[in-house]
Amino acid sequence: MSAPVWEDGGWAPRPCLTGDVTADVCVVGLGGSGLTAVAELLDRGATVVGVEAGYVGGGAAGRNGGFLLAGLAHGHHRMVPVLGRERAALLYRRTLEEMDRIEAATPEAVQRKGSLRIERTADGLEDCAAQAAALRADGFAVEEYDGPEGQGLLLPYDGVLQPLARCRQLARSLAASLYELSAVLDITPRLVTTDKGRVRCGAVVVAVDGGLGQLLPELASRVRTVRLQMLATAPTHEIAVPRPVYLRDGYEYWQQLPDGRIALGGFRDRGGREEQTSSTDTSAVVQGALEQFLREDLGVQAPITHRWAASVGYTQDALPYLGQVRQGVWAAGGYCGTGNVVGALCGRQLAANALGESADYFG
Ligand SMILES: Cc1cc2nc3c(=O)[nH]c(=O)nc-3n(C[C@H](O)[C@H](O)[C@H](O)COP(=O)(O)OP(=O)(O)OC[C@H]3O[C@@H](n4cnc5c(N)ncnc54)[C@H](O)[C@@H]3O)c2cc1C
Repeated sequence: MSAPVWEDGGWAPRPCLTGDVTADVCVVGLGGSGLTAVAELLDRGATVVGVEAGYVGGGAAGRNGGFLLAGLAHGHHRMVPVLGRERAALLYRRTLEEMDRIEAATPEAVQRKGSLRIERTADGLEDCAAQAAALRADGFAVEEYDGPEGQGLLLPYDGVLQPLARCRQLARSLAASLYELSAVLDITPRLVTTDKGRVRCGAVVVAVDGGLGQLLPELASRVRTVRLQMLATAPTHEIAVPRPVYLRDGYEYWQQLPDGRIALGGFRDRGGREEQTSSTDTSAVVQGALEQFLREDLGVQAPITHRWAASVGYTQDALPYLGQVRQGVWAAGGYCGTGNVVGALCGRQLAANALGESADYFG
């Protein structure tokens, strides 16, 4: 049951890298962030080789909850004091623009139907009010919500995507050499080494999010690895969930797929330190909590057909890491569990930086 509910079998695997190849830029990691970096590099006229340890979208990018959310991991009201109002608003706007680009690039995989932030405590609802006030102050749409899912906020710009389909569609559209089952063992300026091949290149883009600390040990203290888990049910009409919903500021999240299945994730805090792992095995503790929530809170008794996990990167300040780690080696990650949009934005910036631009999409 470890395959995600998104797996539809429609992928022709790419070759493994063997021997020496050459490109302007080598992109390491072919999830949503790396693939966006490849696309941006191609748009800018560079030649690109992409290398992936597993399969395209085989990491968190193809195994996630499918929420397409504006903003960073923490709500806009919490980013304003950290970044300043102007910068926080600019970043929020950039994520909205990136969502539009994701939708334009892979329209069949995306549905923009808004999202619900639901809270069940007075503190949570107070936090919703602060979030709504900060968004409105900067001209971003938000509505108070009180409906069958509970009370909270409706964020109308948000949506969902079929995350694995998005990665595969993006990869198919790219005129670049993409290699699978080609784990990178070593990165030095201008040379990327896998177990069977090497890429000689002018610059390297590393987009491995939860794997950053392993591949680039100098980032291990900045970006820690955390496992997130999900389950999905058989198609059901026991409940109707018109929009993706998240609870407890995003700890729990669920959506109903077009065929009626419920896809539910969360309870990483229930797993404690055990979730600080790159293992993609599911655990009884977190899966038990998810199952209990499904049955008792959502009232869904449909059989569980899928259980899966993947690892992501978390940072201390909830801001992504993005920078030049070694001469000519640019890396990003640490999206704190919400990287579908921000990861793509970072991928774009990494591409610009790798070609020598001082672009700072986050500044
Ligand atoms: C269960 C779960 C639910 C989530 N829900 C959401 C959500 O609803 N919305 C949202 O925005 N975000 C969500 N996230 C977070 C989101 O999935 C990630 O932030 C995002 O996918 C990061 O994309 P990425 O391309 O940077 O990294 P990844 O998708 O992790 O891709 C990195 C790739 O690098 C490869 N790699 C690693 N090491 C090497 C190496 N040495 N050599 C070559 N390749 C390597 C991996 O195999 C992987 O394919 C969720 C994550 C999980 C796990």
